[in-house]
Amino acid sequence: MQVSQDQPIYSEAPLQLLLFVDGRPKSRQQVQRIRAYLKELEAEYSFELQIIDVGQQPYLAEHFKLVATPALIKIHPEPRQIIAGSNIIAQLKTWWPRWQAAVDAFLKLQEDLQERIDDNSRVTPPKSTIRSVAVSAELIKLSDEIFRLKQEKEKLTEQLQFKDRVIAMLAHDLRNPLTAAAIAIETLQSNYNSDTGEFQRLKPGMTAHLLKQARSQTRTIDRMIADLLQVGRGSDTELPITPQKLELGKLCLDVLEQLRDRYTAKSQNLETDIPKDLPFVYADPERIRQVLVNLLDNAIKYTPEGGTISIAGLHRTTQKVQFSIGDTGPGIPQENRDRIFENHYRLQRDEGTEGYGIGLCLCQRIIRAHYGQIWVDSAPNGGAWFHFTLPVYPS
Ligand code: ADP
Repeated sequence: MQVSQDQPIYSEAPLQLLLFVDGRPKSRQQVQRIRAYLKELEAEYSFELQIIDVGQQPYLAEHFKLVATPALIKIHPEPRQIIAGSNIIAQLKTWWPRWQAAVDAFLKLQEDLQERIDDNSRVTPPKSTIRSVAVSAELIKLSDEIFRLKQEKEKLTEQLQFKDRVIAMLAHDLRNPLTAAAIAIETLQSNYNSDTGEFQRLKPGMTAHLLKQARSQTRTIDRMIADLLQVGRGSDTELPITPQKLELGKLCLDVLEQLRDRYTAKSQNLETDIPKDLPFVYADPERIRQVLVNLLDNAIKYTPEGGTISIAGLHRTTQKVQFSIGDTGPGIPQENRDRIFENHYRLQRDEGTEGYGIGLCLCQRIIRAHYGQIWVDSAPNGGAWFHFTLPVYPS
């Protein structure tokens, strides 16, 4: 009797075989020959055969730890036996008489048992049957799925918690630049005379300062929101960039100017070594600005008062420019130098410092989108040295 894989039927046939096949054109002929041979045997012997396509039921292949198909498995009488390879029919010819002997022995044993037990009780059905195999394969599949779902749930819970934390921190952090921008705008507004179009009681220098303040604070807010959106999108999505001819040294000085208040407030010294003849790079100015702001922001944040921030540019090869930002802070321990670029990762040491652990991940994504590299090592004085490379703009 041949049972289709779709309708496994519990059978009493003492010899039970599984034939594992695959969809490869190469094995089709071999499978046809095996099936034809089994068909011949069927005329003379009683056995149950189930054909299993590994493509449709990979869990069954896993259950039997199959390494190759086609494969013929005797699952009953036990012990289980697997025949595989290119000469299945030849092997089957050798084994067939022994399998028949095993069947006879099994039937004899059943008869003996039957005689010994009560008429009302039933013989325990054989442990390993086609039905039981299908059930245990289904169980493997389900437990795999449960495991996967559990992991997914943990990941999602973690992400949700992180987002809650970020939103709480962001609400707090946004207040500073928002208040500063609002004060500047309100001051301008309350002094504005719509009839004359002038700012009363404000000196032109002050008006310009307030406008600049409002603009730079809204830029800060914009960057914080942009960072946040990156977190929301996760780290797997591609980062769109619009590269162009860019003067990296100039951009860096620009960013330093933007951060002047920050490092002067901590009395930090600045050392810049940007060669005049550093070639242009091919990069997205807004994205690279984000990288520089993040790296310099970290350098200032993690370096104590009176420390030194260093910036160096290097024409590394004909195709690459290397930019480095160093500090005299605590540095990054060797064992964490890869992990700090992971999303949400922060050194335990710095848990008390404000931050979300996303800046460096974003930097890495941006630099990678430019086909560059970013890494950290230690400065000679023990601080951190962050380096990144960018492609040279072709001349
Ligand atoms: P954040 O600074 O917001 O925590 P980052 O992704 O920018 O997130 O940095 C990840 C972690 O790497 C920080 O929490 C900090 O522990 C460490 N780190 C980054 N830059 C420096 C630095 N210049 N010096 C020392 N530690 C740093």
